Amino acid sequence: MTTQQKIAVIPGDGIGPEVARASVRILERIAAARSLPLTFDWFDFGAERYLKDGTILPDGFMQRLRDEYAAIYFGAVGDPRVPGNEHAKGILLAMRFELDLYVNLRPCILFDDRLSPLKGKGTNELRFTVFRENTEGLYTGTAGTFKKDTPDEIAQEVEVNTRKGVERIIVAAFEFARANKQTRVCMADKANVMLHGHGLWRRVFAIVAKRYPEIQAKAMYVDALAMDLIRAPESYGVIVTNNLFGDILTDLGAALTGGLGIAASGNIHPDRVSLFEPVHGSAPDIAGKGKANPVAMALSGAMMLEHLGHLREAKLLHDATVEQVREGKHTADLVPLLGGAASSTEEVSAELLARVERRLAEG
Ligand code: ATP
Repeated sequence: MTTQQKIAVIPGDGIGPEVARASVRILERIAAARSLPLTFDWFDFGAERYLKDGTILPDGFMQRLRDEYAAIYFGAVGDPRVPGNEHAKGILLAMRFELDLYVNLRPCILFDDRLSPLKGKGTNELRFTVFRENTEGLYTGTAGTFKKDTPDEIAQEVEVNTRKGVERIIVAAFEFARANKQTRVCMADKANVMLHGHGLWRRVFAIVAKRYPEIQAKAMYVDALAMDLIRAPESYGVIVTNNLFGDILTDLGAALTGGLGIAASGNIHPDRVSLFEPVHGSAPDIAGKGKANPVAMALSGAMMLEHLGHLREAKLLHDATVEQVREGKHTADLVPLLGGAASSTEEVSAELLARVERRLAEG
């Protein structure tokens, strides 16, 4: 008997529910047609629930995710009615840390030359994948303020770099490169200034790289890399870096490859429950208007199918979505790049579903 794979769907706030509905409909169709053992359970965690009864995530929910679920399919969190966004931290950051989702995987692959903002750089040049460390660095909240609101105020965040944490993300990047026949791995740091933490990254990178002799390994300062990603993006295949630099470089990567509306990501612990989400946030400015681009969520769904071992179906959904971007209707965010008229979330996702159906029918 095939083991069931339960997926926890957390649509969240803003445009999250709009793009989640559109994509789960497509995933359910693929699962039904191909007899995949997937079931989808919906959870209403987000600003609305938090404002109603104070729930961020209920007690025991994290354990349920660990014990019962194969993956989490996540929309976005963030709502202007919760100015401190404490619910967002308690949901998304808590899952990243408590489920130990140490790989933040963000492909930055250009699907169509018209989406490139760089002169002379197209689909052959813009194809790199970022491995961002997701559980340490400057985002752990190891921080404090002293003498607050006085002229002598001191505020600090401590950057956490553990040998184990650094090694496992670097290994993940090299393993991905090997599995995908990529010949280059670049590590971005600031080891010239941050001698201790980033010195550790340098040492571990050199040790791990020796185990992958077929892969060219290069360590770079992040400022030089940021410049080079604009000047010569074709020089990069896999990039591995810490939490903060990865956050920044992947927004740059999204901007180089068509924007937030089509940028997908995985928050992964290999072999454990992992979370897949669009790179974009809840975009309150366009929420409820039918303007949200559903492509980033659909591509995150394809990454989830791959993680769950459904490689053919992952490719089917990925290819259909890329074709949608190249040839189909698109939402307003892509009009400046692709021209034409703006279609709604529903129109784009209905057309994408039709492309998926066509591929399913072809077998
Ligand atoms: P966060 O801090 O949660 O990342 P943010 O407000 O900084 O949120 P986003 O919510 O990602 O960033 O949105 C930034 C802008 O990008 C939005 O104002 C919106 O116009 C645009 N945007 C983001 N996602 C989409 C999408 N899926 N479709 C269309 N436009 C989008």
